[in-house]
Amino acid sequence: MEDIDIHGAIERYKNRHGYTTFNPRAALIDMDGTLLDSMKWHTKAWHRMMTELGVECTRDEFYLYEGMTGAATIDSLIRRAFHRPATEQEKIELYARKTGYFNEYPRVEIVPDADRMVKYLIDHGITRVLVTGSGQPSNLARLDGDFPGGFPHDLRITSHSVRFGKPHPEPYIKAMELAKANPWECITIENAPLGVESGAKAGAFTIAVTTGPIPDSDMRKAGADLVLPSMGELADLLPCILKGC
Ligand code: MG
Repeated sequence: MEDIDIHGAIERYKNRHGYTTFNPRAALIDMDGTLLDSMKWHTKAWHRMMTELGVECTRDEFYLYEGMTGAATIDSLIRRAFHRPATEQEKIELYARKTGYFNEYPRVEIVPDADRMVKYLIDHGITRVLVTGSGQPSNLARLDGDFPGGFPHDLRITSHSVRFGKPHPEPYIKAMELAKANPWECITIENAPLGVESGAKAGAFTIAVTTGPIPDSDMRKAGADLVLPSMGELADLLPCILKGC
């Protein structure tokens, strides 16, 4: 693997935003595909539900919508297929059906080394804020067991906390408010282009970890300051990233 130039990435990040400093003390972290290896089942459940509804779609396209709220995803596909907005009732019923399918599938594992990454942040006093477009209780509930002490309940942005959702910067701006941190004091950790876009627009140093089929170039186009091939790689590089080496 080519050498990763973290110093260069930080300098480019500061120049792009006009910051004179980068002092990370909060990590704003996505859930699906970043902490939990759940995207294969989310995409399967979305594809199954939408196909039943008569919407033409592919399973892989749902990787690209990752980060949007369920309601926004439903509205976007119904507009595309039926040339009208989704009703509020449809958004509720169809999201519930998709969630039901998801819950039929095997238990989701954590992304390899995500626990090691989170533990490093805890041990080094970095505030963690969860920033997810999901409102799925089964996944949110298990974080305490999978990442002990990792994600305090008062430091969570979910689909219920936001009006717009990713790729709008709102979720990450609200996360910065919760962390009481400025943008140049925050890193975001994401696995999806819409989430990367949200974090970058909010002004954080945005790290994309490619845990799924989306190519590095899509992450860079979305504004990623750093693209890494695995969560293990991120865990190994965190000392350097946090010190601004
Ligand atoms: Mg994600």
